[in-house]
This record gives sequence, C-alpha cells and structure tokens, in this order.
Amino acid sequence: MEAKIALAGNPNSGKTTVFNALTGGRGHVGNWPGVTVEKKDGAVKGHPGIIIEDLPGIYSLSPYTPEEIVSRGYLINEKPDVIINIVDASNLERNLYLTTQLAEIGIPMVIALNMTDVVEKTGDVIDYGKLSEELGAPVFGICAVNGRDLRLALLADKAIEMKGKNPPKAEGCFSEKTEAALRKIMDLAAKAGIAESPRFYAVKLFERDKEIKLSLPPEVSEEIEKIIQACEKELDDDSESIITVERYDRIAEIMKKCVKLNDAGGLSASDKIDRVVTHRVLALPIFALVMFFVYFVSISAVGAWLTDWVNDSLFGEIIPGAVSGFLASVNTAEWLNSLILDGIVAGVGAVLGFLPQMFVLFFCLAALEDCGYMARIAFIMDRIFRKFGLSGKSFIPMLVGTGCGVPGIMASRTIESPADRRMTITTTTFMPCSAKLPIIALISGAFFGDSALVPSSAYFLGVASIIISGVALKQTRLFAGEASPFIMELPAYHMPRIGGALRVAGERAVSFAKRAGTFITLATVIVWFLSGYGFDLKPAEVDSSILAFIGRGAAPLFRPAGFGSWQAVVASITGLMAKENVVGTMGVLYPGDSLASAMTPRAAYAFLVFNLLCAPCVAAMSAIAKEMNSKKWTAFAIGYQCAFAYAAAVIVYRLGAIFGGGI
Ligand code: GDP
Ligand code: MG
Repeated sequence: MEAKIALAGNPNSGKTTVFNALTGGRGHVGNWPGVTVEKKDGAVKGHPGIIIEDLPGIYSLSPYTPEEIVSRGYLINEKPDVIINIVDASNLERNLYLTTQLAEIGIPMVIALNMTDVVEKTGDVIDYGKLSEELGAPVFGICAVNGRDLRLALLADKAIEMKGKNPPKAEGCFSEKTEAALRKIMDLAAKAGIAESPRFYAVKLFERDKEIKLSLPPEVSEEIEKIIQACEKELDDDSESIITVERYDRIAEIMKKCVKLNDAGGLSASDKIDRVVTHRVLALPIFALVMFFVYFVSISAVGAWLTDWVNDSLFGEIIPGAVSGFLASVNTAEWLNSLILDGIVAGVGAVLGFLPQMFVLFFCLAALEDCGYMARIAFIMDRIFRKFGLSGKSFIPMLVGTGCGVPGIMASRTIESPADRRMTITTTTFMPCSAKLPIIALISGAFFGDSALVPSSAYFLGVASIIISGVALKQTRLFAGEASPFIMELPAYHMPRIGGALRVAGERAVSFAKRAGTFITLATVIVWFLSGYGFDLKPAEVDSSILAFIGRGAAPLFRPAGFGSWQAVVASITGLMAKENVVGTMGVLYPGDSLASAMTPRAAYAFLVFNLLCAPCVAAMSAIAKEMNSKKWTAFAIGYQCAFAYAAAVIVYRLGAIFGGGI
C-alpha cells in the first residue's frame, strides 16, 4: 500500500517529534516556533510505501510568511492522501483555528491531540469522543515525547486506514446566512469548473483572499461579488472578519461541549516560575546569570578540565610522541615529519582539543531549550526588542544560530516583513556559533586563565551587537517600518530530557569532529605549506614565508585594534573558510605556548571580538546569499558585518586602554 500523509499543525505543537517517532528519523526538534522551515519527508516505520511529510508550522491557511506559503501550497496543490493534524492539546482553543480550516480542504484527516501529559497536569479533561463527533474526524490523544506511547502506532495505523475515506465535516461551521452564501458560491465555482476542495475555495473567495488565483470568468466573479456584498450588508461586517469571528464562535462552542476545565483555579507551577523568570526587572539579570553559569560549567569547569587533558596530554605529548616515534621508526623525510607534526597534529589538534568544552556547552544549551527556558528568553527579548521597534521574531534565528549560523539564517523565514527579515539575516551570525567556540575558548584559556567571563561576554556581545545594529538600521530608510507581530505560547516547563540533550550535543560533536578531520585538516596543510615555504617553493623561515607576505600586506589595517601581527591577520582570513581555522592556523603559527606572549590580553580580546562579528564562514555566507536572493543585499550584509566587527574591535581595544591594560 502506498500513501502520502502530511503532518500539519501550529508551530511548536510537536509535529517534528511525531514525525521522528513515526519514521524513526532525526529531524531537529526545537522548543520554539519556526524550527522546521522546509518540509521534510520519511517513510513510516514498518510501512515503506507510506510517506510522511513534516510541514512547517502554521497558525492558519491565510499565508503571510514564506513557511505558511510552503505548507498551504503543499496541502492545496500536492494533495496528500491524508492529513494528520497535530494539535497542542494544552492550547486547544487556539489550535482549533487551524483545524477548522484544514477540514475545509476536503482531505481525510486524523486529529492527534498531542501534549496530553501537560493537559493531565493541569487537571482539564478533554472528551475525545465528543470532539471527534463535533469535528467529524477520528481523534487520538498522544504524548509524542514518550517514545513508548502505544497510541502513536495506533495513530499511524488509523491515518493509513483513512486513505480514500470521508474528509472531516466542514459544513455548519458558520452562521446559516454565511453558509447559504458559501453554498451559492460553491455552485457558481463548480459550474466554472472548480472541482477540487470546493469548500476551501468558496471560503477563500468569500474572504476575497488575493493569494488565491483562480481563473474564473469575469461574469462569475461579478456574481460572487454580489453574493458577498449582500451577505456583508446583512451581517453588517466585512466578509473576512465575518469568517474569522464566526470561526471563533464555532470553536468556543466546541470547547464548551468537549472540554471540562479544572475549576480549582490557582497558578500552575509553570506560572509560578514564570512570575520570577519573566519578571520585568529580574528577567535579564537571571538570564545573564544562567548564561554565565552555562559558560562557567562548559568552558571553565568541566569542559576546561577535560580540554586541558586533551590539549596538554593527548595532543601535547601522547599523540605527538607516538607519531614522532612512529615517523622515526619508518624513517620518513624531514618535510613529511614537519607536515604531520607541525601541520596536521598541531593544527587539527588545536581544534579538536575544544571538543569536550563544546560537547558540554551544547548539552547545557539543549537542556535549557528543552525544559522551556529558551522560549521564555524569546518572550523577554521580544519585550526588549519591541521598545526599539524590532520584532522578537528576530531572536529565534539568533537562538538557532548559537548552534550553527546556517539554520539560524534559514530560520529568518518566519519573519514576514522583508525589511525585518533582511535585517535578521544580516545580524544573526553575530551570535557565537559552535565553530567560533574554539576561538573563544582559546583566547579565554591563553590570556584570561579560563575565566568564564570571557565566553559569556562573547554571548552577550552577540546579543548586544544584534540590538545595536537593529536600532541603528531601523533608523535608515531601507529598514524602517513596523515590527512584525510575534505570537508564541510558552510551553509548560518540564525536566530536561537528558537523552535528547545528549543526542543534540553528540550530533554537534560528531559533525565538528568530521569537519576537523576533513576540511580543517586540508586547511591546516595549506597553512603549514604557505608558512614554511617562500615564493621560490623552497623551505623558508616563517618570517619570509608566503603567508607572512600576505599577512603583512593587511596587518597595518588592524593595528588600531591592537592585533596587527601578520599571524593574527592570516588566522582571521582562514577563518572565512571555517571559523575553526582561526584556531587551527594559530596552532600552526604559534607552536607550543608561544601564543600567550604574542599579544597583550587587550589585543587578544579585540582579536576575539573581530573574529566573532566579522563575515561568517563561506557556508553561512552562501546561506545569506540564498536567503537574500539578491547580490546587492548579500554584499550589503557581508560588508556591514565586517565594518561593524572592525569598529567594535577598535572600540574595545581603545576602551581597554582607558580602563587600564586588562579587560
Ligand atoms: P514542531 O514545531 O511542531 O515541529 O514541534 P517540535 O516537535 O519541535 O516540538 C516542540 C516542543 O514540544 C519540543 O520541546 C518537544 O520536546 C515538545 N513536545 C512535543 N511533544 C510533546 C508532548 O507530547 N509532551 C510534552 N510535554 N512536550 C512535547
Ligand atoms: Mg518542527
């Protein structure tokens, strides 16, 4: 048997979690809206012919954002055989807004009430049988995060069985007068040859939705317009709000019939925590403390302890010792020894050495996200951003960008205003991503005794740069305009799932190690060659190498920022390929402990600032180009980032002088 099943639902309702549970896949589960911006498919476990499609989350079928257009386009044009509507049962009323619209498409549908564990805690009771009767579709309660929930398998079986069965009941959603108008429109459209999804199109025509392009003969359009105007006159409202208002009335009626609210009242535990955590005054200091603690644990404490061992023993003695012993025993050529020891082991070792810190950091960030705290941060940031005319939606790409800038940039698709979206694409990579972490840890370790202040300052530097840029850019004509609206419900807190967080951290670590083994190895070999050979291609002292020549050309430019040495400049340039290269290159150019005496801490911090904020790696730059879809805007974004980074580095270096030598 073959079938196409689409998962549709509001953002953050658990679609990707259900998708992963049913397909055994590993889509990214995020605790905020907008994580799935592209659709993704997979076969149901045990049913190779049944394909499930994970669609981006949407609040309604009147699309405003690119991801809503993706989802609606798929449902309307590609016609899956069955829709599984994932509903966040703890936010039933709001989610039903989409459900009633999905019912209009006329595709068989199964409704999965997810997050039943959360509902149980609140004490509310949902009558599934009643709900199924009202909506005219099978209803299943599930808890998608519980992999052992047997109801998930039942849900899949039911969805498969629904292929070719009746679609849900959509008639009777609106008042009798509106329904009568819709029936007339449906008749006219049918005569004009519109065969599929008649009710969906009738509603859209009634709403005068401009996105719907049906080629109706002009006399039919005129007649429909007359029907709409008559109805508007009778109900004394415009057609679009008639539909919205009556839809909400219908949902209120369903809620009344099917849900028994826990009337004990009072605040839930989540509400109590939120009172403190999202407090007007305390929210930011708490956030700062939390992030400081996260960086303290990952960079200064656990991570540093592991990293010291990896750096000093593993890559400092054990591996070089073993490798040089081996090379001596097989009697290799001098240059090959140097390539392996001074090039690959020094460069890649410098990068890989930070793996433990990175693992711990991503574990902590994943746990914070999973328990629901990061969603609060988006909420707090929205409050702050709004004061400056920015949208809190810009903050979600930033959060995603702490893992990797590429998905961060892609997450900007949730922002509907083109000006806000461009601004977010331009500023998202100011956040320290996983590849920048080794740079942060290197500087903090070599110059600041592994203090957690340096890494957490890097995080807040990213946030501050985004806010400052946002405020500044908003003043220009190019980016002016109202901030996009941002709605998200705050998920209830729960204990972070250790397994999930370990998996996220593990995936990051593996992809980091893979890059170190391939891309970064290649880059360090090139750096080793360019730093050990002159233009005559004969071995040369570092100072007269090709690399020194290149670096010296650009070095004076960075003197105002304190790090005008050719080595630092070259490292920054190689960072444009991949940010880890900054560390790999430093590893080759400053052997052993020589880095610590090569710059003042003040210059080192300015160097860090520059590398955190300047143009990101090629992968992220091409993501920028793809999302901007314009050479002009891409050039603007990258130019802006470099200029901003340069200015910030100079300012930090100069301020450092005022506040006396250190930072
Ligand atoms: P999507 O945006 O619809 O794809 O939602 P995700 O699958 O990314 O899930 C959003 C958040 O809800 C994640 O933090 C999930 O771990 C969480 N989640 C998903 N299903 C459940 C559930 O049944 N119960 C609880 N408590 N949390 C869930
Ligand atoms: Mg998703």
